[in-house]
Amino acid sequence: SIEIAGLRKNYGSLSVLDDISVSIKAGEFLTLLGPSGSGKTTLLMTIAGFVRPNAGSIKVDGREIVTLAPHKRNIGMVFQNYALFPHMSVGENVAYPLKLRGVGRGERDDRAKRALAAVRMEQYADRRIDQLSGGQRQRVAVARAIVFEPNIILMDEPLSALDKRLREEMQVELKRLHETLGRTIVYVTHDQKEALTMSDRVAVLKSGRIRQIASPRDIYDKPVDRFVADFIGDSG
Ligand code: ATP
Repeated sequence: SIEIAGLRKNYGSLSVLDDISVSIKAGEFLTLLGPSGSGKTTLLMTIAGFVRPNAGSIKVDGREIVTLAPHKRNIGMVFQNYALFPHMSVGENVAYPLKLRGVGRGERDDRAKRALAAVRMEQYADRRIDQLSGGQRQRVAVARAIVFEPNIILMDEPLSALDKRLREEMQVELKRLHETLGRTIVYVTHDQKEALTMSDRVAVLKSGRIRQIASPRDIYDKPVDRFVADFIGDSG
């Protein structure tokens, strides 16, 4: 489980995370939903360890991680722009987190192969990143996030660069992956429909605060205020 309490992040006078507290159950698929600038990416980056909060605590299975370096957190992350290394092959990209953790060559190759198989990209290990389509890059980014078998996987708008058909296909694949891996997923999107169809719970953010956190059904049927109602109602 992840226990977040009193998390704050300011950039100068701008309060980007304003006293965020949330408990995320092990194995849960939680989606952070909110308009541009509401703090979704900052919250993920803080959980991953790339942003240092001004205050607050993040406990994973009871252990405080807020001061730990990212690679010591056992948390996988799929970045918004995928952040793949263009000069490395697909296989090298996927194996990179293992290299960072001191895993030897042979084991790295085996585990990278397995992670690529999980996203149906095993035939592409020797390709260069710039020879891949957007959907294939997305799959590689997911493989790199799961290769060290983290208990927690963070995904920042992983499908936003894809066209509608591929996005719907990948939604199904990510759900399947969640079910087979049984890991905790914290997922960021600004697509209401995607949030409602994929998640166990949805947290709606506005201006660095969680306005409501509930099941998709309750968010849809019982929005706590006008902001949540209007935002969800936009889904079309
Ligand atoms: P989007 O949906 O557009 O990605 P978001 O909800 O993920 O938005 P964040 O990226 O977390 O929002 O940004 C929240 C606010 O913090 C924005 O107003 C942004 O301009 C500001 N911000 C983020 N990073 C920095 C930074 N390094 N320095 C200053 N301001 C920042």
